[in-house]
Amino acid sequence: MHQRKKNNSHLNFIIVGQGIAGSVLALSLIKAGFKILVINQPQLSLSSKIAAGIWNPIVFKRLTKSWLADDLIPELISYYESCEKTLNANLIHKRTIIKPFTEEQEKILWLKKANDNENTNIFLDKRHYENLKLDENYNVKSYSKVLQAGNLDVEHFLESITMYLENNSSYLAEEFDFAQLSIKANEVLYKTISAKNIIFCEGHLITKNPYLNWIPMKPAKGETLTIHCPNLNLQNDIFNKGFFIMPLGNDLYKVGATYEWETLNDFPTEKARAELIKKIDSIISIPYQIKAHEAGVRPAVVDRRPIVGAHPEYKNTFIFNGFGTKAVMLAPYFAKQLLNFIQNNTAINTEVNPARFKK
Ligand SMILES: Cc1cc2nc3c(=O)[nH]c(=O)nc-3n(C[C@H](O)[C@H](O)[C@H](O)COP(=O)(O)OP(=O)(O)OC[C@H]3O[C@@H](n4cnc5c(N)ncnc54)[C@H](O)[C@@H]3O)c2cc1C
Repeated sequence: MHQRKKNNSHLNFIIVGQGIAGSVLALSLIKAGFKILVINQPQLSLSSKIAAGIWNPIVFKRLTKSWLADDLIPELISYYESCEKTLNANLIHKRTIIKPFTEEQEKILWLKKANDNENTNIFLDKRHYENLKLDENYNVKSYSKVLQAGNLDVEHFLESITMYLENNSSYLAEEFDFAQLSIKANEVLYKTISAKNIIFCEGHLITKNPYLNWIPMKPAKGETLTIHCPNLNLQNDIFNKGFFIMPLGNDLYKVGATYEWETLNDFPTEKARAELIKKIDSIISIPYQIKAHEAGVRPAVVDRRPIVGAHPEYKNTFIFNGFGTKAVMLAPYFAKQLLNFIQNNTAINTEVNPARFKK
């Protein structure tokens, strides 16, 4: 592993944490010409590593557009496509999401929303389909599809960014020690490293950050299974019926996810495994094998909005966090907003302003 350059006197930014948030931001800053150093210890708790990486423009509960979907979707496609070129990697898969109807009312509401020109029509298929065969025994009788959805291959994305940073001597694999940080008016000092600014992207471990532990987080643990199921035949679509089944290739599927707010760690549990198996068995009656079982903690905020912007008291300290269940979709758009703020002092969406929690 490459160590940092001895001469780091011209660093513009230290970034702490390299999950989806730190990765998206790091590449955005490098492309804008900034010199950065990412300090990351993935063993601490890395929610991104187990994320399915799905983006979905629709809130299923009410069949409404998810927050800012019209702006987020084009931005994420353009961002990750440009990453694919920079990193020379295949990272995104554009897919549809199959949404089965459990009752006639649901179908009627869907078709109404799919024809709502002002609102949801570009994301909902106007047709409905019959008899999706998930296997020989189970028929989803009627369903439709969410358009403009997909997934990022998160693991590959993180690995490619780490490698890119290492090759640029911009990566330090260690736990950030807050006792060694000193934030001055025009400079940030960390051990022997000096930078103009620092950006915190530690996911749910933001609660351990003495500069930011006033942010009211509501982290949610989640677990997934990876199953091998040769006859499932889902091809390119993601299936969603209160839980998702997403194709990974080679007859492997990621299934998830669970929600739990009490025990916040990365250890898989028997309880979540049983819950997911029950859900799979309600849909699939052919044999499958469980190949992996993983857990992570989503960095969600009490008001379910990200936290992006400058620290209310330290002008050279920034926060890029709180992406909850949707980092893949939100991070590219808000990285651009943060970058514009840093470069041109343009306003960031007030709903994500960290100062909203500071009296
Ligand atoms: C089961 C599950 C399924 C999910 N599915 C999806 C999905 O389909 N689509 C989607 O968009 N999102 C999904 N998510 C949510 C997604 O995982 C999060 O939104 C995202 O991972 C948050 O990224 P992050 O970079 O903020 O945090 P993290 O990924 O947790 O990264 C933080 C990094 O900072 C490091 N760190 C923390 N403190 C320090 C320190 N002091 N020193 C050094 N390093 C430090 C951590 O170890 C880690 O490497 C899912 C989450 C779960 C749990």
